[in-house]
Amino acid sequence: MLSYLRCIEENCRLVQSAARDAQQCGACGGLLDVQYDFDPFDPDALRAEWHQRRLSGEPVDRSGVWRFRELIPFMAPGARIVSLSEGSTPLIGARRAGWWAGPVHLTVKHQGNNPTGSFKDLGMTACMTRAASLGVKMVACASTGNTSASMAAYAARAGIRALLFVPYRQISGAKLAQALDFGAVVIEVGDTFDQAFRLLRDIAPELELYLVNSVNPFRIEGQKTIVAEMLEQRAWRPPDYIAVPGGNLGNASAIGKGLQELRALGFIEKVPRLIVVQAEGANPFYQTITSGSPDLMCVDNPDTQATAIRIGRPANWKKARRALQWTDGVCESVTDDEIFAAKQVLAEDGIGCEPASAATVAGVRKLCRAGKIEPHADVVVVLTGNQLKDTDYIVRRRSEENEGGQRLRVDPSLDSLRRALDQVLAAPAGLDR
Ligand SMILES: *Cc1c(COP(=O)(O)O)cnc(C)c1O
Repeated sequence: MLSYLRCIEENCRLVQSAARDAQQCGACGGLLDVQYDFDPFDPDALRAEWHQRRLSGEPVDRSGVWRFRELIPFMAPGARIVSLSEGSTPLIGARRAGWWAGPVHLTVKHQGNNPTGSFKDLGMTACMTRAASLGVKMVACASTGNTSASMAAYAARAGIRALLFVPYRQISGAKLAQALDFGAVVIEVGDTFDQAFRLLRDIAPELELYLVNSVNPFRIEGQKTIVAEMLEQRAWRPPDYIAVPGGNLGNASAIGKGLQELRALGFIEKVPRLIVVQAEGANPFYQTITSGSPDLMCVDNPDTQATAIRIGRPANWKKARRALQWTDGVCESVTDDEIFAAKQVLAEDGIGCEPASAATVAGVRKLCRAGKIEPHADVVVVLTGNQLKDTDYIVRRRSEENEGGQRLRVDPSLDSLRRALDQVLAAPAGLDR
């Protein structure tokens, strides 16, 4: 038994065979971890092997998830992998954003450069591979948008039907379009993600639906490989901090698990501190952590323009709390205006992303201002989604903020055009605004 499922609750720890997937502990209903009996690694030899695989043309080696398959050995060697060549995303310096946020040494790990445009693809290749190996006929998820786009693509590839539950009129047009394009059936139900998710969880067993939300522990396994990839790109020098936005808190959980395992296996000694950033109108985890409450302080009507993190009852909060404990991490909360400011500054560096992703940079700035991050710290922020995922947001906010003269309507005469351009050229550009 190389891999098995184990309940994360301290006073339960029930071990279940991974032969049939479960979403929660059969005894106490707690979240499950995929655990492995790892043989001792020679970290140097394995690093060299991972590096070597980058030259390979095999799909399993080209994937930024399966290239690190020794860290996620839940499939038999040689098993069929459902992959779209996910991962291998760039790590980019962001000098202006780093100056604005700190000053800190800021780099972004851009997960928007994934096949469907978000980090969800890392988890989806893992759990869809799993679903295919179990002969699943239909997969389902509730989603704020990106999970659905990703599920639809990987399900199509695996030849599995996909059923999507989304809150009515609450997800971005681009994400909905992706899911439809890949042939998913879309069920609009409820007003919030939390409602849609609860209904799906209740009905899934009856319809024998295989859930691919991040409560599926195999999603977390795929997502945790981001840590290995990022460290490899940094020649295995850990940063001081890694920041992620927090919605359902799967990503924070995955990064925490990845860091903890890489330390236990001898790949790193220093563990970066994890920073989880939530939007002020949807910050149940922030409230829970800062108050020290033993129970989740739910937000009943989550509200933020960063729709990817508009979640009031994050299912993975206990795993994320554990990740903060493992990494001596912190949680921060930022307003929608702070998120927009951070997104604008990233744009000054030529880096586009979703609003939810930019929350990380806003959070870093706030923690620096509060003296909780030291000046010139080495910070990696995970940009979770692609710029084009929510163009309505950009057009709306950039048209409001028009003092920089970004959108001008000009009469079709040379005189008016000259006057308008004179005005534009006289105005200060970029960060001087
Ligand atoms: C899903 C998502 C998040 C939130 O991630 P969780 O794992 O749910 O905390 C943040 N940003 C984007 C772009 C996402 O798609």
